[in-house]
Parts: sequence; C-alpha cells; structure tokens
Amino acid sequence: MTLFEKIIAKELPSTVLYEDERCICIKDVAPQAKVHALLIPKLAIPSLNDLTQDHQNLIAHMMLQIPKIASDLGLSETGYRVVNNIGQHGGQSVPHLHFHILGGEQLSGNFA
Ligand code: AMP
Repeated sequence: MTLFEKIIAKELPSTVLYEDERCICIKDVAPQAKVHALLIPKLAIPSLNDLTQDHQNLIAHMMLQIPKIASDLGLSETGYRVVNNIGQHGGQSVPHLHFHILGGEQLSGNFA
C-alpha cells in the first residue's frame, strides 16, 4: 500500500483541500511554494507511464478539477504550475500518480 493509498483511506492524516469519488487533493507536507497541493487519483496508478485507455475519463476528470481547485486556492489570477514527476530521473518519490499544483508566489525557472 502506498503512502497515498493510506492517506486516501484516512489511515494517515492529511489536510484535504478537495475530494470526490475519483480523486483527492491534499496539502503537500513539504511545500515547495507558498501554495503546494497534490491531486491524487483514488485508483492506485503508479505513474503516467501506466495509463491506459481505461483511465481516460479519470484523467480528464482530474484535469478538469485543477482549475477549480486553483480557483479555490486563489491562484487563478496570478497563475500557477502543474507538475508531474515520473520515475527515478523525473524525481518521483511516491509511486502513486499525482499532480503537484504550485503557486501563491512567483515560481523560479520553467520547471519545479
Ligand atoms: P513526488 O516526489 O513527485 O513523488 O511527490 C511526492 C510528494 O509527496 C512530495 O512533494 C512530498 O513532499 C509529498 N508528501 C510526502 N509525504 C506526504 C504526506 N504524508 N502528506 C502530504 N504530502 C506528502
């Protein structure tokens, strides 16, 4: 069971910013920006590499939640960054697909 599965199952504490039947958005415990959220599917997909056609609706659903969550977090006007790390070279540390939502200040560079 991954860390995020435990968070989804509420076996580990987290600050939930948004939740529905298919995904959950939590505060990152080690924020890399003033606002740093993680959007996580409840289905345990290891990474973007593991997506199949079966996940099409889930991923579309999650992408559509991002601007809504960003709006709730006050990021719409100033902008924000969405990051997805894949595997070792991508710097992925939790093998459960998740999208970082970063903002609340000017972010440096083009990548997180
Ligand atoms: P990644 O490195 O892309 O796999 O991102 C994993 C993220 O999970 C990192 O930004 C961590 O800070 C974050 N993280 C690790 N443990 C927790 C936790 N218990 N609650 C919230 N975020 C976490």
